[in-house]
Amino acid sequence: PPDVEQLGRSSWTLLHSITATYPERPPPSLQSETRTFMSTFAKLYPCWHCASDFQDWMRRDGNAPRVSSREEFGRWMCEAHNAVNVKLGKKEFDCGKWEERWRTGWKD
Ligand code: FAD
Repeated sequence: PPDVEQLGRSSWTLLHSITATYPERPPPSLQSETRTFMSTFAKLYPCWHCASDFQDWMRRDGNAPRVSSREEFGRWMCEAHNAVNVKLGKKEFDCGKWEERWRTGWKD
């Protein structure tokens, strides 16, 4: 079975990278496919307790994927990742900085 930490880092890299290249104005068909992608991803994630908790989180009020723009989807993914950070006792990430981390690169 995959290492849960390595799998997690690789998966978050994939997911945040997808939001970084998501269109600013996605057509309705893509928005619908993206919602389906996220629920299927949550179902197939190859760490069963992770998958089960992530599905529960996505089903809670206000946590359904927001996919109407790159900005919305990027923020939503950051919030989803923060929910896992909190569950694991890790520091929450400042979601005002998701684009700097995953799309444009840190400016310093
Ligand atoms: P990661 O959390 O993997 O983060 C990688 C990098 O992303 C960080 O270095 C930081 O630069 C950046 N980052 C951190 N937070 C955010 C954010 N909110 N938004 C944007 N960027 C951010 N592990 C478990 O042990 N139990 C679980 O139940 C569990 N559930 C998971 C569910 C899902 C859907 C996924 C994808 C992963 C899950 N993991 C779980 C794995 C866990 O989230 C971490 O990936 C793993 O613990 C390694 O953590 P890390 O500290 O190396 O950084």
